[in-house]
Amino acid sequence: MDIIIVGGGPAGFAAAIYARRAGLSVTLLERLSAGGQMATTPDIENYPGIPRTAGYELAFAMENQARELGTEIQYTDVTKLTIGSPHEVQTAGKLLTCRALILAMGATRRTLGCAGEAAFTGRGVSYCATCDGSFFKGQTVAVVGGGNTALEDALYMAGLGCEVYVIHRRTGFRGNAILEERVHREPRIKLLLEQTVTAIEGNQKVERIVLTHAQTRETTSIPVAGVFIAVGVLPQTELVRDILPLTASGHVAADETCHTPFAGVFVAGDLRQKPLYQIVTACSDGAVAASAAAHFLQ
Ligand code: NAP
Repeated sequence: MDIIIVGGGPAGFAAAIYARRAGLSVTLLERLSAGGQMATTPDIENYPGIPRTAGYELAFAMENQARELGTEIQYTDVTKLTIGSPHEVQTAGKLLTCRALILAMGATRRTLGCAGEAAFTGRGVSYCATCDGSFFKGQTVAVVGGGNTALEDALYMAGLGCEVYVIHRRTGFRGNAILEERVHREPRIKLLLEQTVTAIEGNQKVERIVLTHAQTRETTSIPVAGVFIAVGVLPQTELVRDILPLTASGHVAADETCHTPFAGVFVAGDLRQKPLYQIVTACSDGAVAASAAAHFLQ
């Protein structure tokens, strides 16, 4: 095999599309389902040329495009990577080898770490509004975080007829101005700023959250049926953290062609240290990494 791509998000599919069009044999390995974080995004409105789409639709379109171009797509867990000549990729079932490796494992949602979070995960605590939101239609929910994901999740839940509390530890948001404006305009969304969630409580399911004010340390208890946690993401480096150099933020370092310090090992998407984490920049990385891999293999 010329290239193995680990990860089936936008970076991985873009890499597959570019590598196949360069005439290389390509296997793409994905643990779960097509799209990664993109598939759990309710509305995508900043992918050029597509004014609005659901994340899962764009994910299926990318997967189909990669497959139709001849990418072999396997849904399997990668358990070990060995850098060498050839590189070795151990999956749950077999050992695969390749001349170039493109790592596109992306990132996963960070947990909050408060009391009750783990115990109520799947019983009112969720990390994916698009996946679980419909269970809470018309109910009162909390969304925790102040980035784009939290703002999008809050708007999505308000769209499902929920009363939504957005709980953010500061007064300023990290998300895009256009989303923040929509959140401010949405009457179903109430902002609880300078508050942190210190406990999630209930019996069989979530019934309330306990908030602590950042300045006064005053605590309040708010009844909610669901808590959507959107406090950032962590690059998925389990497979490479003992092999490749990581930056202070835990991303994989690579040059502008996405080449890591190891010959024939490339990194693309949210795993890579870079200034902007977006679907469009993940696709860009995938294209650059595949093109650089093609040059490397010549
Ligand atoms: P993010 O931008 O890193 O925001 C995480 C938010 O969670 C921040 O507001 C942060 O607060 C808060 N937070 C972190 N740890 C916390 C804790 N322990 N307790 C309470 N709050 C905590 O993460 P994200 O929203 O998941 O987005 C990840 C990346 O994907 C970003 O680059 C984002 O722009 C991108 N993205 C883009 C779009 C889009 O363009 N439409 C959509 C989704 C995601 P502070 O602000 O105080 O640090």
